[in-house]
Amino acid sequence: MIPKTQASNHLALAENPPSPPLWVTELRQAIRDPLELCREVGLDPQTLDTPAEGLQAGHQLFQTLVPRPFIQRMQKGDPKDPLLLQVLPQSRETQHWPGFTQDPLEEASANPLPGLIHKYSSRVLLTLAGSCAVNCRYCFRRHFPYAENSLGQEALDRILDYLNRDSRINEVILSGGDPLATSDKRLASVVKKLESIPHLKRLRIHTRLPVVLPSRVDTRLLDWLSSGRLDKVMVIHINHPNEIDTSLEAALADLRGIGVTLFNQSVLLRGVNDDPEILAELSEKLFSLKVLPYYLHAFDPVEGAAHFALEDTAAQQLYQQLLARLPGYLVPRLVREFPDRPSKTPLGWSF
Ligand code: SF4
Repeated sequence: MIPKTQASNHLALAENPPSPPLWVTELRQAIRDPLELCREVGLDPQTLDTPAEGLQAGHQLFQTLVPRPFIQRMQKGDPKDPLLLQVLPQSRETQHWPGFTQDPLEEASANPLPGLIHKYSSRVLLTLAGSCAVNCRYCFRRHFPYAENSLGQEALDRILDYLNRDSRINEVILSGGDPLATSDKRLASVVKKLESIPHLKRLRIHTRLPVVLPSRVDTRLLDWLSSGRLDKVMVIHINHPNEIDTSLEAALADLRGIGVTLFNQSVLLRGVNDDPEILAELSEKLFSLKVLPYYLHAFDPVEGAAHFALEDTAAQQLYQQLLARLPGYLVPRLVREFPDRPSKTPLGWSF
């Protein structure tokens, strides 16, 4: 028999179940329909380059997903808004271009176990989550077989065994999807197991979640990040200075406050940030928030996103202009990833 006080607690919980964290609620309220996204930003789909049928065609290939706090940073009524362009489906996504493939980085060949990508000798990547808080149209993993890489208990045990046996590995990168789309409880449980592997030193978290949903940086996440023996590095993903608002600034200040090392990586995207003024402004803003500009990724040729691609020569010219505007420590490294090389390849210094 349940004691009376416990029984009344159970009753109270049934009547008032604990509310989910704000970020979970905001994620549930994210826009998942391209026409609704147009309405939210005050655009008539019939006046766009991609009318309604095109929006739906792109959406069928890769679902629309955009949280409202990110939409609030868009310029209403502007079909060329650089944030909107990153998330609005396009009919062009249905076109096939030579050289653009579903797995541009050939990750399938560096996938020794489900949920694990091992490309570089000292670090591995865990696809902890099969989803994100935003679906970026240019994502090089937009076709990634997340279902085959889900990290159940058995898969995780095999990964832990793999890591235990290779003492060259000293860093684990949590990726996805977006690892912060996972609950704090699951994050804590996975990382606790990683901490038992003596040769691991660092935990790197690749995430766009604090950018598109700053409420993800809450007390529970900060408590978890402050605990444990592994050094924490967070690589956020911002492509355009308009993505930075006061709520993101506050989230980054909280992360800095507990000693998380913060870097940013951007993807060079035609029509979004292929302008040295924009990239320079982004670097300046990042630095003012104590986030170091780390990588500027040359576009990975993923099928469905060719309209974002820039020729390498154009990327290099833009990069030279960026170098002329900024001190070296504010210039992210322009890199391309080639499947068969032991590290990313710098493009910016080739002439
Ligand atoms: S958040 Fe990152 S992994 Fe997720 S869709 Fe965007 S680019 Fe891809």
